[in-house]
Amino acid sequence: MIDLSGRTALVTGASRGIGRAIALELAGAGAAVAVNYRERADAAEEVVAAIEDDGGRAMALQADVTDLEAVQAMVKAAAGEMDGLDILVNNAGIIADDYLTFMKPERWREIIAVSLDGAFHCTKAGVRQMMRGRWGRIVNISSDAGLMGDVARAHYAAAKAGLLGLTKSTARELAGQGITCNAVAPGIIETELIADMDEGRAEAMRELIPLGRFGAPEEVAPLVAWLCSDAAGYVTGQVISVDGGLRM
Ligand code: NAP
Repeated sequence: MIDLSGRTALVTGASRGIGRAIALELAGAGAAVAVNYRERADAAEEVVAAIEDDGGRAMALQADVTDLEAVQAMVKAAAGEMDGLDILVNNAGIIADDYLTFMKPERWREIIAVSLDGAFHCTKAGVRQMMRGRWGRIVNISSDAGLMGDVARAHYAAAKAGLLGLTKSTARELAGQGITCNAVAPGIIETELIADMDEGRAEAMRELIPLGRFGAPEEVAPLVAWLCSDAAGYVTGQVISVDGGLRM
């Protein structure tokens, strides 16, 4: 049983998909959770309501993680409302399919800005809060694509690989402050992010997965919650895949 009672958490991109499942899992373990979103206020408020209905504490916070000032204001608001910030899950991400020769530089920047710049912005703002309590947990949601590469997704794979460098550097730099930083690399998880995948590609991918199926957001969230717990205090700088055995 993971116990995060008394802890405060911020999950980026928590209005749906994997981030939503992580927010619900952390709250279920007792943490107060700030549910970040970019556009879908209704969805974020629904996550907050689900947490509160379950007896937990949550708040929705709009911010585009690509905007450092907006992130700083969000972290300040979360820490002010919840009395500090102990846990940060950098989950917000977007994807696109562009073959390299057709990839526009603007699209390259856009994908990297959300997954990589966004995580940097939130980490920069979040660790200031964690340092006060000399305790912190950061989990970066990377991807198997960052470890294996992916066709038509060089921007996405580069962002997710960059996130691993950020993870390990953060882990080294902040270890002395009682702050751990790890990465979780999902394989293919059934969310809106992959909803446009054509059935031919989906079937080919399923055949590569030893467990023979795509995952669910609820199969990623428990590992994240464990990494955020006291029990994971001696685990830092690691990359753990949740992918049905796709990458082994
Ligand atoms: P999703 O269902 O598309 O949800 C994306 C979330 O990110 C939404 O809550 C969205 O908020 C938020 N978001 C997007 N851009 C943002 C921005 N600029 N600022 C703040 N929030 C932003 O995606 P998902 O499948 O759950 O993916 C979550 C993470 O897991 C991503 O980093 C993704 O790369 C990674 N991942 C996913 C898979 C997969 O197969 N699904 C595999 C490996 C890794 P709004 O809806 O409110 O705009």
